[in-house]
Amino acid sequence: MKIGFFGVGNMGGPMAANLVKAGHEVTAFDLVPALLEAASAAGARAVDQPALAVQGAEVVISMLPSAKAVTGLYLGEQGILDLIDPDTLIIDCSTIDAATSRRVAGIAADNGRVMIDAPVSGGVGGAKAGTPTFICGGPADAVEQARPLLECMGKNIFRAGDSGAGQVAKICNNMLLAVHMIGTAEALQMGVDHGLDPAALSEIMRASSGGNWSLEVYNPWPGVMPNVPASNGYQGGFGVNLMNKDLGLALEAALTSGSSTPMGALARSLYAAHANQGHGGLDFSSIQTYFRSRDAD
Ligand code: NAD
Repeated sequence: MKIGFFGVGNMGGPMAANLVKAGHEVTAFDLVPALLEAASAAGARAVDQPALAVQGAEVVISMLPSAKAVTGLYLGEQGILDLIDPDTLIIDCSTIDAATSRRVAGIAADNGRVMIDAPVSGGVGGAKAGTPTFICGGPADAVEQARPLLECMGKNIFRAGDSGAGQVAKICNNMLLAVHMIGTAEALQMGVDHGLDPAALSEIMRASSGGNWSLEVYNPWPGVMPNVPASNGYQGGFGVNLMNKDLGLALEAALTSGSSTPMGALARSLYAAHANQGHGGLDFSSIQTYFRSRDAD
């Protein structure tokens, strides 16, 4: 298929590359020329104007950093919505607030275009390996139409519901991820403070009722697990700043619906404090260091 791809950054770059590998014709646009060069090296056609990436595209995919970027791309002064063929499916994979996602998809629908939200869970490593989960919101037939393409970039494809539902499900997931990562980190620290070996304690909790994804595949204690950010100075992975962004979206969503999310609110506060202490660029499992006991120094 002919695909117009907007935003070839940390996630979009490898996603576009996987579409090329699957035999699709990808035309990429990004604001950063160096990223376009990398996309070109991976086999995409790089263009320097958004309109050129839309021309002839059967599907348009965007993977942008913020709601502002998404509204700017589709609806801004030089927005591409009107340039997109009405038969072209629009898939926005950015993680943004559900209200904006619904608003942009609604304007697209009013103009005869179909747009779905399909935020991604799985991180940069997952995007490179083609294993992330796509969590879609929008008309069921549009999600089915998108499925074969999403399967070129990811492993699990879900439809959470109507427009914006993908965004809601994604932030519910990331709020829970933050909460169990923090819970895992404080439990490990308390065990170590009482003289336990963090690897042994991890194994015990993993096989007991405290078992969770953080313990199973992403242990936050340095050296317990190979090939995780904790064992590499908390480099790479999913950044504290990005987790903070998602927890902010979760908090906004909770306010909108009047939901009580005390653990999510506390998680947002802890991650904000951790970022304010200068750790915004580290992987989110570095929250482990927030609980470090004074005696450890
Ligand atoms: P990134 O900043 O690396 O990439 C975003 C790219 O979009 C940048 O290269 C930027 O230049 C480009 N861009 C901005 N406005 C544009 C426009 N109008 N037209 C074309 N390109 C434009 O960010 P990322 O890490 O790739 O994340 C992208 C999205 O995926 C975010 O919404 C993020 O929350 C989400 N996400 C990230 C991760 C992760 O681990 N990095 C995991 C899951 C989801």
